[in-house]
Amino acid sequence: MTRLVKPLLASVALCSLLSLPAHAELDVAKLKQSIETSFESDYPKLDALYKDIHAHPEIAFQEAKTAAKLAAEMRALGFEVTEKVGKTGLVAIYKNGDGPVIMVRTELDALPMEEKTGLPYASRDKQTYNGRETFVMHSCGHDIHMASWVGTAKTLVGMKDQWHGTLMFIAQPAEEEVSGAKAMIDDGLFTRFPKPDAGFALHDQPFPYGYVRYRVGVGSSSADGLEIKFKGRGGHGARPQATIDPVMMASRFVVDVQSVISREKDPTEFGVVSIGSLHAGTAGNIIPDEAVLLGTIRTFKPDVRARMHDGIERTAKAVAAMANAPAPEIKIVEGVKAVINDPAVVATAEQALKVAFGEKLSLTPANTASEDFSEFAGAGVPSMMFNIGVYAPEKWAAANKSGTPLPDTHSPLFAPVPKPTIQTGVTAMTLAVLSAFDQSAKGR
Ligand SMILES: [Zn+2]
Ligand SMILES: [Zn+2]
Repeated sequence: MTRLVKPLLASVALCSLLSLPAHAELDVAKLKQSIETSFESDYPKLDALYKDIHAHPEIAFQEAKTAAKLAAEMRALGFEVTEKVGKTGLVAIYKNGDGPVIMVRTELDALPMEEKTGLPYASRDKQTYNGRETFVMHSCGHDIHMASWVGTAKTLVGMKDQWHGTLMFIAQPAEEEVSGAKAMIDDGLFTRFPKPDAGFALHDQPFPYGYVRYRVGVGSSSADGLEIKFKGRGGHGARPQATIDPVMMASRFVVDVQSVISREKDPTEFGVVSIGSLHAGTAGNIIPDEAVLLGTIRTFKPDVRARMHDGIERTAKAVAAMANAPAPEIKIVEGVKAVINDPAVVATAEQALKVAFGEKLSLTPANTASEDFSEFAGAGVPSMMFNIGVYAPEKWAAANKSGTPLPDTHSPLFAPVPKPTIQTGVTAMTLAVLSAFDQSAKGR
C-alpha cells in the first residue's frame, strides 16, 4: 500500500526479492546534527515561550490564552491555523507537496494545584475550578510538550526539502480530564481537516533527560469511573436491629471488591479498582439511609476490563443481598480506552530513534495511568506515544540511590530542566515524523 503503515522490514524484503536497488536509508546521524543546530539557534525563543506558558498555566477547557500563544507561533511559521476546535483546541496545517498526513499532538492544560518548586518562572496564577478559585500549575509537563511541539514544527519547516506531505499539528485541551481529544474529534477534527496517516505524541516522565522510552502495543490503561449507592434504612445507632446499615455494606464492599482483583482476574494481567471517595451519614449515633462510593477501574485489555466490571457489579449486589437491603444503584461510566502504539508506526520510528539515541533509547513498561491520546487511535489513526526524561542524569541517579526519587508528574515540586528536555523532545519528534514521511516515500 502507498500509505505509511507498511513496516520497514517488509519494504526492504520486497526490494531484495525484486532485485531493485534498496531505497536510500534516512541519514539519521546527519539529520540529528542539523536538528540540533537549528534547535540551538531557535532555543532562546523556545525558552521564553516555555517559561511564559509555565508561569501562566490554564486548566482544562480554559486554555484560551495558551492556545492563542501557540496559534501565533504556528501562523508565524506559515501554518494555516484553526482555533476553537473542541472548545479551546487548535489545528495547524502545513502542506508541502504530495505525501501522507502526519499528526503531532500536544496537550494545552495544567492542573488545579499550587506550585512549590521555587523556580524563578514558577506559576502564581489562579483560576476557577469547579466553582472555587485555585492555584494552577503545569505539573504534568504539558508546557514542555508545547515547547517541543513548536520546536518540532519550526525544525520540520526548516527542513522542508527533506520530506513531502502534510503536517497536522494539533493542540488538545483538557487531557487531564481525559475529554479534550474526544471534544476535538466530535468537533470535526477528522472531517473538517484531513485524516492523518499516522499520529505522534510525547510525554515527559521523571527519568534523565536525553533519554527516550517507548512501547509497542498497550501504552497506558483504560479508565472507567465507578459510582455505587448502597440503600439501607436509617435509624438509631443504639438499635441497629431496626435498621439496614449502608455503612456496613459500603465497608464490606471496599474490602471484598479487591477479591475481584486477586481471585477472579488472571494474576498475570493488569487490573486495578480503587475506591477514592466514600460518603455516608452525619453523626456518630445515626445509622444513615445510604452510602455512596466513587472509584476508578484501570485495565489494559478489553476482556480483563469486562471481567472486572462483571465482578464489581456482582460483589456490590451480593453485599446488599447479604444485608437484606434493596439492590444498590451501580454506575460504571466507560472512560478512555488504553493507548495502543501501532506496531508498524513504532517499527518505522524506532529505526531512526535507535540510531539517534543509541543506548539512551529503551522499552518501557505500560503506564497504569490513562491518557486520551487513545481517542485518536480509536478514530482510526495508527499512533505512537513515547516518553522523554526531564532530570539531570547525575541528580536522578543520586536521588534514587538515596531512596527519595525526584518528584513525579502531578507533584507540586515537578521541575523539568527545560533546555535538554525540550531538545530531546524536538529531536525525537522530528525524527519520528521524518521517518514516517520517508517510510511512505518508500512505499510508493
Ligand atoms: Zn497529568
Ligand atoms: Zn500529562
